[in-house]
Amino acid sequence: MTTDSTTTEATPSLAAQEAFHRALRNYGGRLDLSKAHPTTRSGMEELSNYYRWLISAARFAEPPYNPTGDLIVDFVDNAEVNAVALGFDRKEFIGINWGLVALIYQAFYVFMSRPSVLSTIGKAEVEKAGKKSVDSLLQQHSWKLMESLLPADGERLCVAQHLAWNAMAFVFAHEVSHVCRAHLRFLKNVYDLDHHIEYKSVSLSEEQARALQSLELDADTAAAETNMILWTKLCQRGTYPLLAEISPLTTWSLSLAMLFHVLDMRSKPIGSPPRSHPEPAIRLLQVAYEACGGFDKTQFPEGQRRVAEGWGIVSKWWQQNGLSGDSFGELDNDLDGAIDKLDNLRRETGELVEQLRPLTEERNCDIRLRKEDHDHTENTEPNKADAGDASQRA
Ligand SMILES: [Zn+2]
Repeated sequence: MTTDSTTTEATPSLAAQEAFHRALRNYGGRLDLSKAHPTTRSGMEELSNYYRWLISAARFAEPPYNPTGDLIVDFVDNAEVNAVALGFDRKEFIGINWGLVALIYQAFYVFMSRPSVLSTIGKAEVEKAGKKSVDSLLQQHSWKLMESLLPADGERLCVAQHLAWNAMAFVFAHEVSHVCRAHLRFLKNVYDLDHHIEYKSVSLSEEQARALQSLELDADTAAAETNMILWTKLCQRGTYPLLAEISPLTTWSLSLAMLFHVLDMRSKPIGSPPRSHPEPAIRLLQVAYEACGGFDKTQFPEGQRRVAEGWGIVSKWWQQNGLSGDSFGELDNDLDGAIDKLDNLRRETGELVEQLRPLTEERNCDIRLRKEDHDHTENTEPNKADAGDASQRA
């Protein structure tokens, strides 16, 4: 459907499935995808195949290519909007709750059910948005609710899935950054935390919140660039013919603007106790800045305008629905203040990244040692078949 990956090559081994289930048992364990909503299941399978393909392609790459080592990723059987990265039994894991996947897909289903949104795609006139309100995004998730939100037109449904796919690919890249940029080691050393759970229920000190926000900004920054390059390449290769008439940078920023607006709607109000993440509007601002410095200007001469266009389409839709999260409201009222806030956070993040450097080297060294150990035992190249598959498809 949306990527070149196939289902059989990237299916996780039974051992990896069991290791994931054991490591994530306290969070709900591994999700059995046969439980998922059938329309969204194929997208989720494709996402997990893509995740695994990417990891195996970079598994033993040398720095600075973020070696992924023994990293296992899968979905967690948990309806909360959350994701977790952790180390366990000499392996690293990324678990993405199905509740987060469901929320993002639902948002795009409701979005594409509005006839005025991207009205040149499919038969927009058959959509009846009235029944599919944004309020449904605040309800408890269920596959049944999701089914009631699907766009009526098949092509618009496909586009909703493509855009949701990219938003989730960004979430994945963000989690990989927490692992590969040694954030887990930092949290263990400084706060004795074994797991990095995105949205925590414990209260944080001001100092902890600042450090966590810097880690989040660092993960977003790394994820923004890889995600933007991936999406524009897929679009240029003709992977999404239904989106061929729209600039890839517009659809890219649209998909991320939706992700952060949805997170804003679900966030605690501004002024509540110190939080672990920068406000979603500040995060989107950083992601957009990062992208604007990262695309090829000769390929995208109007790139900045396209990035702004995607963001604008989502903001307009959000306002039309009469729902605006706190941080986007604040951004509209005081853009200069938001830019100052981001500049401060960027400075603090730069300082923290310096502290992370030796930890990243330590992690890379551990991975190299394990690889040598593995090579010695197997007397063969590790995961040769995976790497071959990946290079054929890269
Ligand atoms: Zn994070």
